Amino acid sequence: MASKGEKGNKTNIFKQDIPMIFKNLEVMSPQYVPDTLVARDNVITEVRNALSPILIGGYPRHLVFQGKSGTGKTVVINYVVNQLLEYLKEETTDDRKINSDILYVEINCEERNTTIRVIYDIIQKIDDTIEIPVVGMATSWYFDRLWDVINTHHVSLFIILDEIDKMDANNLLYNLSRAQNRKIDKGLFIGIVAITNNTRYLTEGRIDARVLSSLNPLSIVFSPYDADMLREILEQRAVDAFVPGVLDDLVIPLCAARGANEHGDARLSLSLLETAGHVAIQHNVKKVLEEHVKEAEKKNEVNAMIDVLKKQPFQSKLLLLCVIYQWQLREPEENYLRTGDVYEQYKLFSMELEKEVLGPTRISGLLSELDYLNVIDAPVDSSGERGRTRKIMISIPVREIIENIIVDDDLLRDIVEKVWGKTITDNPIKIPNLYYSPKKKRGKQTHIH
Ligand code: ADP
Ligand code: MG
Repeated sequence: MASKGEKGNKTNIFKQDIPMIFKNLEVMSPQYVPDTLVARDNVITEVRNALSPILIGGYPRHLVFQGKSGTGKTVVINYVVNQLLEYLKEETTDDRKINSDILYVEINCEERNTTIRVIYDIIQKIDDTIEIPVVGMATSWYFDRLWDVINTHHVSLFIILDEIDKMDANNLLYNLSRAQNRKIDKGLFIGIVAITNNTRYLTEGRIDARVLSSLNPLSIVFSPYDADMLREILEQRAVDAFVPGVLDDLVIPLCAARGANEHGDARLSLSLLETAGHVAIQHNVKKVLEEHVKEAEKKNEVNAMIDVLKKQPFQSKLLLLCVIYQWQLREPEENYLRTGDVYEQYKLFSMELEKEVLGPTRISGLLSELDYLNVIDAPVDSSGERGRTRKIMISIPVREIIENIIVDDDLLRDIVEKVWGKTITDNPIKIPNLYYSPKKKRGKQTHIH
């Protein structure tokens, strides 16, 4: 332990030089709503017009937003509703036609993917003291509770249903759209905004004609941003987020170009810019450069892959560990592993863990999934004398996989500690950072058998 004297001599570490790159990180977060939006004037006007009937005692038009991820769907609805609520707060004239509170409820339908879960959440957001069973009641029972709570609280709602395509929304949309004037008191409204990344959602037939005619939504398509628009979005955000002068001139155009290549995705461009800032700090430099963006790009790709890997079944993770282990053991002149090497290792680890051993066909299937996820590169090699096999290479840093995937699983962690020694988690430097980067692949067509 440090004595008092020693402590007195030390300068607080925060007083020492930290590279000052960011001045406000909050504005880079995905939830942040900027004061003005770039290149979305037409959409904003359409949405405003759709909601504005409520100002004269009418009902809002229901909306469906379709567009690829990062095209501003969430930020546009947040922006317009913020403006509306702000306007209503300022507007004190006597001819106001709204006499209810307005509540803004956002639900992610991937997480809450049944009608009952969605209604349950809406009820809780109106009044979190109400006790209702999570299961065991008919859907209609939950709807009735919802109408009750809306009427007793005399509240109007904007309900944002994000990722609507992740659930069967027919029953939900039908009932919500028919509630006004029938189930809820006069003067109250429910405005629905259904959001989807699927640009064909409304034309794919997932919503019944009967539901569509009741909902009668205004469909708004969010077109991809081009590189110029993305650059403007980034420049606008950078003014608030970064210390003046720290961004090299090439940085924003590069981040914008990457987002433009990826279906005009502003989220990707913003995240790249932010990560590049953190990379510069890690390198302890005072300026964000092009090379930091490139490093950030790799980091973001690996992180995205790690998120997907975390959701894979145990057998896949175990198999991946076998690949890593064999990869480390291979002769230096070997550029790839073969299915057989990995399978033998898999049998050994499975027996060690007293786990079921899957057959070669299943294992080949799992390898093909890992290939599809770009975690490994495993094309089938049919040239060989050894029959059909795969040429297996690792495509992301081993250390990232071990630190983020393997150590989270008790069984796999046991194996790692046996194989690489006890220090694996105490001293991660000991993990070999072997990693081979094959040509980059995208899309699903490659090597699936
Ligand atoms: P989506 O919901 O379509 O996936 P978001 O609305 O979440 O996309 O936008 C992704 C990111 O890009 C957010 O940080 C958002 O603030 C920002 N963004 C999107 N469009 C604009 C715009 N027109 N002007 C400023 N920022 C934007
Ligand atoms: Mg969104």
